[in-house]
Amino acid sequence: MIYADNAATTKLSDTALEAMLPCFQEYYGNPSSVYAAGQNAKRLLENARRQIAACLGAEAREIIFTSGGSESDNQALRTAAAIGAASGKKHIISTAFEHHAILRTLDTLAQEGFRITLLDVPENGIISAEQIEAAIRPDTALVSVMYANNEIGTIQPIAEIGAVCRKRGVLFHTDAVQAAGHLPIDVRMQQIDLLSLSAHKFHGPKGTGILYAKKGLRPARLICGGGQERGVRAGTENLPAIVGMAAALTESANKISDDTAILTRRRDRLIAGLRQIPDSVLNGDQERRLPSNVNFSFDGIEGETLLILLSAAGICASSGSACASGSTEPSHVLRAIGRSTPLAHGSLRLTIGTDITDNEIEYIIRTVTETVAKLRKTSRRLV
Ligand SMILES: *Cc1c(COP(=O)(O)O)cnc(C)c1O
Repeated sequence: MIYADNAATTKLSDTALEAMLPCFQEYYGNPSSVYAAGQNAKRLLENARRQIAACLGAEAREIIFTSGGSESDNQALRTAAAIGAASGKKHIISTAFEHHAILRTLDTLAQEGFRITLLDVPENGIISAEQIEAAIRPDTALVSVMYANNEIGTIQPIAEIGAVCRKRGVLFHTDAVQAAGHLPIDVRMQQIDLLSLSAHKFHGPKGTGILYAKKGLRPARLICGGGQERGVRAGTENLPAIVGMAAALTESANKISDDTAILTRRRDRLIAGLRQIPDSVLNGDQERRLPSNVNFSFDGIEGETLLILLSAAGICASSGSACASGSTEPSHVLRAIGRSTPLAHGSLRLTIGTDITDNEIEYIIRTVTETVAKLRKTSRRLV
């Protein structure tokens, strides 16, 4: 099996697994308990917080543990909305190609009286700081722009957007779920106020993530209960997952430049190979994209059918995002960059890991080329 769907989730790394194992049967105490077993767990928890903060250029007290990217996105938007509303600012700027965790939360905020501006996305899939600046109004409370897009992999100019927001006194949130562990992050240098990440996108465990909230910002509480996470996120901490996340983030952050070199070469070979397919178009900027991401549209085919045939050939890929699979709605991301409905339906996303070999890359190119040709022949016979 060739796994080329790392944007959907990644395999747990050995380092993360080894860090997690003692937490299950050795350090099983509740970090809130006063006896030694609890305090040992507490120490692991706070070590993990410091490790993660160090990877982001943040302070430990700015890190809140959550259940993953979706929860962090919800909490980030709710935090900025509450802060804005307290001073009468109820306008939020975001973009049309965000993850649904952002878009659906913005829908509910709109129902609660917030005014939402969703910026159009240029065909290359990159939002500019100028677009952001032009959309800021006196009542703007928040700008939320994803660091890297989960479908087309395009990378946004986060530091430039952060500078515009800081200059205009507007809070800046970035959904960095696809970026963390793959692209450099420094919340101070990039002037980020709120940031979401999720462990399972960088070889950590599923169901855990963090919200970074710059000191001085009081995070809005989504889950009420005990006083964990300084009262802003109740619930006994998932210690094994948190420790695994810290190990996985540290490991990936240390390998970013090596991994980027390996992945970029393979990605560019995949792009060059798939480009030879007639009536194909690359989705998203060719260079300013995650080194792991390839996304093409092929005219005249159904992405879902292509996926089934690729799966039979041992290739795990995706068409649009995994969450959208099963629905017949074309990807909102591909629509946002202006792809027609047929092209949006005929998309294929391959997101590679460093374990993929040159031979596997060639096999993918050959198999996709043959399968697309076969599907087109069949659909021509039908008409
Ligand atoms: C995967 C993903 C999320 C959701 O993260 P979960 O931990 O699965 O809830 C949010 N945003 C982006 C960009 C993602 O890729």
